[in-house]
Amino acid sequence: MVCGASYLPWPLETHEIARGPFREAAIREPAAWIRTCSKCHMDTLDSMPIVEQLAIKKLRDPEHYDRVKVNRLRKRSDEAITELEVDECLRTLGL
Ligand SMILES: [Zn+2]
Repeated sequence: MVCGASYLPWPLETHEIARGPFREAAIREPAAWIRTCSKCHMDTLDSMPIVEQLAIKKLRDPEHYDRVKVNRLRKRSDEAITELEVDECLRTLGL
């Protein structure tokens, strides 16, 4: 989860790391899922750049983190978002 907590009263939701026409494919790809409370989903994730969402995924769900799969799902090249960019993002976000 973005906040790292499962506190009430916010129910848990699943966010897809994809927008618009790519969301349909993301629904079936665990690498594109971020488990989040509804507050973080609404306040943070929906407006967060994709590279930052990948950084959150890498930190919170390393088992299912797959940057290349997400790039492909979005019909981009394998290195459209690089590992270096994700790692820099983690540092910038202070995570
Ligand atoms: Zn949260």
